[in-house]
Amino acid sequence: MFSRILVANRGEIALRIIRACNEMGIETVAVYSEADRDAIYLNYATEKICIGPAPAAKSYLDMSKIISAAEITDVEAIHPGYGFLSENVHFAEVCESCNIIFIGPKPSASKAVSDKIQTRSVAKSCGVPLLPGSDTPLKDENEAVRIAHQIGFPVILKAARGGGGRGMRVAHNDMSLINSFLVVQSEAKSAFKESDIYMEKYIENSRHIEFQILADNYGNMIHLGERDCSLQRRHQKLVEESPSPVLAPDLREKIGAAAKKIARAINYNNAGTVEFLLDKNDNFYFIEMNGRIQVEHPVTEMVTGIDLVRKQIQIAAGEKLDIPQERVTLNGHAMECRINAEDPTDGFRPSTGKITKYYQPGGPGVRVDSHLYQGYEISPYYDSLIAKLIVYRDTRDKSIKAMKRALEEFVIEGIKTTIPLHLAIFGHSRFVEGQIDTTFVENYVIR
Ligand code: ADP
Repeated sequence: MFSRILVANRGEIALRIIRACNEMGIETVAVYSEADRDAIYLNYATEKICIGPAPAAKSYLDMSKIISAAEITDVEAIHPGYGFLSENVHFAEVCESCNIIFIGPKPSASKAVSDKIQTRSVAKSCGVPLLPGSDTPLKDENEAVRIAHQIGFPVILKAARGGGGRGMRVAHNDMSLINSFLVVQSEAKSAFKESDIYMEKYIENSRHIEFQILADNYGNMIHLGERDCSLQRRHQKLVEESPSPVLAPDLREKIGAAAKKIARAINYNNAGTVEFLLDKNDNFYFIEMNGRIQVEHPVTEMVTGIDLVRKQIQIAAGEKLDIPQERVTLNGHAMECRINAEDPTDGFRPSTGKITKYYQPGGPGVRVDSHLYQGYEISPYYDSLIAKLIVYRDTRDKSIKAMKRALEEFVIEGIKTTIPLHLAIFGHSRFVEGQIDTTFVENYVIR
């Protein structure tokens, strides 16, 4: 096992990784930008190193600074968390060439999942269902219109290297498709530094169902069931749950097998997530694979009893996966609310400033993954996720009741948060009955 790991991230995920290392007896090196000098996770790490000014490009995204910090502190491995450098193939290659183990998929696997057009063709060659669309990057608007006429409107244009719900646009006719084409292309170029875009048939009223995969370096692979992430706003996840309220055991087995087939074809290792859309008639379609630990990993941890971050570290250290597929069972029900520092009454504008009062919920079945504390200053530089509120009870109904009371207990003052939005979601009868799809929040809650 490693004796020392550098955590190349910040916020709640840095804290999550440091906690796992502390339980495993592994020393940690925490990096931080000038804006994060008062971060709580720095207190729990063995060593801390400032890697530059607040803007991420000059700190958390600066490979040379991270690698220098790793070399100075003599670590054996780097955990990238999610976001920042976690899916940067070049960073994984640089780590390899510096003899530092990257805790994540090997560069070839990371490369295979980083381009959604390529992963679509892998899924196709595995015989996994896909939505009709373009098999290669779209050349121009004319090609887009031609393919849209073949597959039928509505269609969705997506950036090949997109993520976080950005670089995507739905078109219902020729005019909106032509208008969206250049917009998505330029969004792709500015946000993801590559202008390749592709098209898929847009399915209305679908659910987002994703499967967690774990694979060691010796070809052993398991899936840990699904997370239903259909509760979204603008294609960004707000609430996740496991198991899904709509997945029958045979369908779980079928989609889980499809997820493993794709991961195997890529020769995938470490933790990964294979994402699907499920339509009203229980047809499932592969959409993409993510090669990192996901924000919503805790719901899987709660229902499987498997510590995913610990497993990532063990796999990266060369340990064999010691859990056969038959031993993975989903017990009870878990849900997660992503709490953002945003004002839901003002177009979800990011909210910054000092936390003047903080009290986090507890009691049976409640887990809070957050880096907040009273007096903490939320800066405008990073993602607005400030806390993940996770509940775990034996049924979905009890999880909903636990989540409601936990949301009511949660005190975060001094800034605006999305807690009122979550209370509205959890108070909605359609949500309670599990009758939701990816457009539920926009159609029934915000309007
Ligand atoms: P990202 O990598 O940005 O998260 P995804 O491809 O995973 O992008 O899609 C994010 C969300 O966008 C999905 O969960 C779903 O709500 C919506 N979406 C993506 N593709 C389609 C599609 N073909 N039909 C309907 N909704 C889609």
